[in-house]
Amino acid sequence: MKFAKVVIDQDAKAIDREFEYIIPEELDVKLGERVNVPFGSRVLQGFVVGESDTSSYDEHKLKSILSTVDGFPVIKKEMLALMNYMAEKLHLKLASILRLFLPSEMRTGKVKELLVRYCELEDNFENPSKNAKKQMEIVEYLKEKKREKFSELSTQFGYAPLSALVKKNVIKVSFEEVKRQIDYDHISGEKKHLTDLQQRAVDTISENKTYLLHGVTGSGKTEVYMNLIERELKKGKTALMLVPEISLTPQVLANFKARFGEAVALIHSGLSAGERFDEWRRIFFGEAKVVVGARSAIFTPLENLGIIIIDEEHEQSYISESNPRYDTHDIALFRRKYNDCILVLGSATPSIESYTKALDGEYTLVEMPVRVNGMEMPKIIIIDMLEELRHGNSEIFSIPLLAELGNVVEKKKQAMIFINRRGFSSFQRCRDCGYVAKCKDCDVSLVYHRYENKLKCHYCGKRYKALDICPSCGSHNIKQGAVGTERVVEELKKFFPDVAIFRMDNDTTSTKGAHRSILSQFREVKPAILVGTQMIAKGHDFEDVILVGIIDADQSLYQADYRSIERTFQLITQVSGRAGRSKDQGKVILQTYSPRHYVYRFAQNYDFKGFFKKEANLRKVTNFPPYTKVLRILFSHEDENIVAKEIKVCYNKVQKVKEKYPDDFIYLDVMKSPLNRIKTKYRYQILMRFKLEKADEIEKEIYNCVDEKCKSSVFYEINPNNLS
Ligand code: ADP
Ligand code: ZN
Ligand code: ZN
Repeated sequence: MKFAKVVIDQDAKAIDREFEYIIPEELDVKLGERVNVPFGSRVLQGFVVGESDTSSYDEHKLKSILSTVDGFPVIKKEMLALMNYMAEKLHLKLASILRLFLPSEMRTGKVKELLVRYCELEDNFENPSKNAKKQMEIVEYLKEKKREKFSELSTQFGYAPLSALVKKNVIKVSFEEVKRQIDYDHISGEKKHLTDLQQRAVDTISENKTYLLHGVTGSGKTEVYMNLIERELKKGKTALMLVPEISLTPQVLANFKARFGEAVALIHSGLSAGERFDEWRRIFFGEAKVVVGARSAIFTPLENLGIIIIDEEHEQSYISESNPRYDTHDIALFRRKYNDCILVLGSATPSIESYTKALDGEYTLVEMPVRVNGMEMPKIIIIDMLEELRHGNSEIFSIPLLAELGNVVEKKKQAMIFINRRGFSSFQRCRDCGYVAKCKDCDVSLVYHRYENKLKCHYCGKRYKALDICPSCGSHNIKQGAVGTERVVEELKKFFPDVAIFRMDNDTTSTKGAHRSILSQFREVKPAILVGTQMIAKGHDFEDVILVGIIDADQSLYQADYRSIERTFQLITQVSGRAGRSKDQGKVILQTYSPRHYVYRFAQNYDFKGFFKKEANLRKVTNFPPYTKVLRILFSHEDENIVAKEIKVCYNKVQKVKEKYPDDFIYLDVMKSPLNRIKTKYRYQILMRFKLEKADEIEKEIYNCVDEKCKSSVFYEINPNNLS
């Protein structure tokens, strides 16, 4: 007899383990297949994650698998190994890991293969009666054409005569699967002659290990990636390239399609459910050899991997912050080892963590310090906004920025204005009593969206009426908070009424294709100004952009997060990198209220190494990652008493661990989360920091501190991106 170990596809902690079932003789069940199994009084779906010839239980008490779902194993061997790794290392639920490995559309069964109905005449059909004119026309048509889509015939001749013919067995209907086509811009993908630096990078990146490619913006990293991928394809291998969701621009897609054609599959959130489903199957069955995608693409079932590339490796979007939480780097390192292949981490501003590893020899450093076109980096001019205020300018734009914009317009060139948030203004506040509107379910300020004149909660999406009277003191004196993209566009129009101004943020790009359409419109118009959020910071390559304005550089500087200075440096470097990518040198106007902060000095000089040294040293003396580990355990539940009680129990156990490792713990505390309530759930957290030497040991003990049966949802996060 054969037995299968099955993980039930349910979101319940209590049943998140392997259950044994008998594989009935008449059923061909393979490792990695989805199956239907009896569970209690129900029939549930599960994944076969193990097989054996013996059972550790009494055979008579075991139940049998009822049927298979797909008829082939949807989870490949590598992914089963990855499941075990993630469960052990990240302490995630097995079911939630397995779900990452296939498109959700497949699990819910809502999306199917796209089947097209075709009509043909039966071999020995009887002619319809002469009175049925339409039916005769269809028969004549098919005699000529042999085969036609049902939908086409139906539009031409009508549904009734067509279905009558099908019923009378004059016409037979067959189904054929078609793959949904993804839209992309068709461009010529001619190969470029590599510069010496690019060639050297391609030659160096040849061994099966991890490389950190540090190349300034405009150094031509994409061309290097494509050459590396090409080399692997020639060897019969496959390639996986990840880019942050927001820099997965139409341009990137077009470039890859042009170079690799049908071999490319795309995975990103802009695809429709059906498109994602089809792309996934093209990858699964080996039709696609190159996958380009955002974070979740790291889980695509490419076999025979030759190279994994993570572009803009420092991007925080590579860390999944919602359940299940994981860092894409960890998964990539696992897959690199499993496949014994190359891993390339590329960036103009590597993370402090990755660069430290490169200096320690864990990664191999490859550098491309100059731009492909030999142009100098754009000149960054720092504008002290307090000084502007002292001179009577309390507007959004400094005098120098307006002057430079005027210059761009005169030269019929283009400019980008970068703003660190979305919406018209971030909040509404009463000028008399200081009241700020907050979400009823979440402990956060509501964001004011002027276009709809609504307040929105960015955490739960709830919408509220905009304020005109303060609910606390009755004053009409309501102030809009800081500046957003809409406001900037409005102000710009006053100064440049005849210039084309485009806006790109979450609001203007929420519909499919909007992103692409804004960019291609912008590309065509000169002079023009593009105003946008983080979305315009990366990846774009517009040769006529000679000016970049950064409105509120300080925005990302003052956040309760040990990485906020690093982020500011990265952001400025990336945004500045959009200027002067062609023949004209670019200029950057950076507006700040803290002009003397060291981050601006290093950014201004494009001194990554200097910045790294300063920042790494600061982390070392203040005991922050990468020299230590931060671990957060987050408890949440609708009933505040339950969270508070359960986290206390856990905290007491963690304290015992701390007593066991007194020299390793730097910090330990329990508290309400800064966002105390989200989507009606109360949130409490235990925060700790400990040294690296015994980190693995300590982590294991910490995970054991949480009672498996507690009612709260529990998340673990290592070096979390934000602590709110
Ligand atoms: P990065 O990602 O390093 O910022 P890109 O890959 O976007 O840089 O390249 C910058 C520009 O240089 C792009 O327009 C690209 O097409 C062009 N480019 C890259 N390599 C070459 C080359 N060898 N010769 C000419 N142009 C190149
Ligand atoms: Zn008030
Ligand atoms: Zn809310």
